[in-house]
Amino acid sequence: MSPMLEVSDLTVAYGKIAAVKGISFAVEEGQVVTLIGTNGAGKTTTLRTISGLIRPESGSISFQGKRIDDVPAHEIVSLGLAQSPEGRRIFPRMSVEENLHLGAFARNDHKAVAEDLEEAFELFPILRERRKQPAGTFSGGEQQMLAMGRAMMSRPKLLMLDEPSMGLSPLMMQKIMKTVRTLQRRGTTILLVEQNAQAALKLADWGYVLEVGSIVLDGPGRELMTNDAVRKAYLGED
Ligand code: ATP
Repeated sequence: MSPMLEVSDLTVAYGKIAAVKGISFAVEEGQVVTLIGTNGAGKTTTLRTISGLIRPESGSISFQGKRIDDVPAHEIVSLGLAQSPEGRRIFPRMSVEENLHLGAFARNDHKAVAEDLEEAFELFPILRERRKQPAGTFSGGEQQMLAMGRAMMSRPKLLMLDEPSMGLSPLMMQKIMKTVRTLQRRGTTILLVEQNAQAALKLADWGYVLEVGSIVLDGPGRELMTNDAVRKAYLGED
């Protein structure tokens, strides 16, 4: 069987400068796969290209056996592929609940949407407590939960998370990582982009290391954690 997501020889450029240079990777159904790399490695560019927000220079992206590299972004969401963006991008003046409902914009199965809203509230009780509050009053960690909740509201088969740990306290980060695991258990496949290599690799079935636009290493998450080059470059060890 082909992988759920297959990226082949993908090149993405801003003007003349290639930010992603011919990368290939795959995400198998049911897995948590992580892309790790330092600032500017091309992680966000890769996710935004998969989401259809940027068009690639060359290469292909297939989701469940179908080419999606020329499919409009909103249709990609409808196919079951959602992204929780870096920097959250919630709508600050809208209420928490309104933000969550936006995640379900492409759906008309109202009963299932209500169930998914309940599930988001179960995973993140703070969202229920403050459902009527403007989202802009939330702390960074709370906004991250809201962004994840919103991405889940499209009932994705594959959820892509862009640096969910950014700016969070270690405790909050643990909570987010635990939620990633819970989502996996509930049947969601996850592509996790992280600068925090330690947290991401611990969780990941498979990891890819991205350096200035190229994949330089890949392997099972826990194996990469013990890899000397990864430890030196990403885990702050000598
Ligand atoms: P970070 O963790 O800092 O977000 P990243 O791995 O996600 O880094 P990208 O944001 O994908 O990296 O950036 C990859 C490269 O592309 C960088 O050199 C960046 O400066 C460049 N880049 C990103 N967005 C644009 C843009 N809109 N226009 C021009 N160059 C860009």
